[in-house]
Amino acid sequence: MNKRNIAILGSTGSIGTQTLEVVKSHPDLFKADVLTAANNYRLLIDQALEFKPQAVVISNPEHYSTVKEALANENVQVYAGTDALSEVVQIPSIDVVLTALVGFSGLVPTFNAIKAKKAIALANKETLVVAGELITKLAKQNDVDILPVDSEHSAIFQCLMGERSESVEKLILTASGGPFRGKNRDYLRNVSFRDALKHPNWTMGQKITIDSASLMNKGLEVIEAHWLFGVEACQIDVVVHPQSIIHSMVQFSDGSIKAQLGLPDMKLPIQYALAYPERVENKLPRLDFNTLSQLTFEKPDMDTFSNLRLAYQALEKGGSMPCVLNAANEIVVAAFLNQEIGFLQMSELIEETMVKIDHEKNPDLETFSKIDHQSRAYTREAIKKQRH
Ligand code: MG
Repeated sequence: MNKRNIAILGSTGSIGTQTLEVVKSHPDLFKADVLTAANNYRLLIDQALEFKPQAVVISNPEHYSTVKEALANENVQVYAGTDALSEVVQIPSIDVVLTALVGFSGLVPTFNAIKAKKAIALANKETLVVAGELITKLAKQNDVDILPVDSEHSAIFQCLMGERSESVEKLILTASGGPFRGKNRDYLRNVSFRDALKHPNWTMGQKITIDSASLMNKGLEVIEAHWLFGVEACQIDVVVHPQSIIHSMVQFSDGSIKAQLGLPDMKLPIQYALAYPERVENKLPRLDFNTLSQLTFEKPDMDTFSNLRLAYQALEKGGSMPCVLNAANEIVVAAFLNQEIGFLQMSELIEETMVKIDHEKNPDLETFSKIDHQSRAYTREAIKKQRH
């Protein structure tokens, strides 16, 4: 395998830092050549000093001069502002763009990376949730691979190797159930953001951890799976599997099921995406069946955790609806973390926004931006009204 130059969009977040660990453990295979951060300039500077990339971007321009000065003696180009993200993904030496930005912000840079014919290692699922049709079409036109970093989708991608798409009967996404598995609405009314941030199996960023607690993460993953693998909503099942050992499964037309298993560690799907189609050795801990006591499964509770039901509805409606769902969700998660609203209000506000925003059947990139703004504004107003 030739050494691959990687642009990591969002290098200071949870996926970004784990990607750098993978790069560090395979210096002969991977080089981190572009690093970007939204606000965490201190870590970005440390990373740049260690990994010696060709370019860094600090999206918040307030920190530009600090980063520039700290890296004055290095051979690193320093850029500021979100527009720079769309430029650095086009640097000719870059082979793979790993998109680990949070939420809607990942869409435009990913769009530009595909146009520049870079392979995409996709950790930012919101890009496909919002504009899956647009992105997958563009990837096809440009003959670009979209390699999932999300553990469930990496599992399905691996199960599909060597199989024909006509043979797929359904995809079975596993969900840990998060910290509130088995709880009822009375319990959920009073949970705090601190309770919600205690994920039992995975260590992740704040936004995705809240999404996991509310099952919105699984809803977004259903939409992501639809676009990545070209299967309909009715062919995508969710099963709760609290141990997070089976990362997902594919059921074929003869009834046979393939699963991908492993310890819950994001470095594995990250490494698989970066090295694809090669499998690369590593020293990560191995799953030991002798110490594994049980693997259990249960049905997801979509009445209590209505976000999953809303996501299926958004996927079935199509067009701009998943964009509205995503925008409203980003606002309510921020408001919940800010202690402005309760846990159950998140779903109520998302549902209200989905009803109120005008539907667009075939939005282009600009229309998505407009709908994203409208939806956010609507949800913010609705939160304000609730508080008065
Ligand atoms: Mg996942």
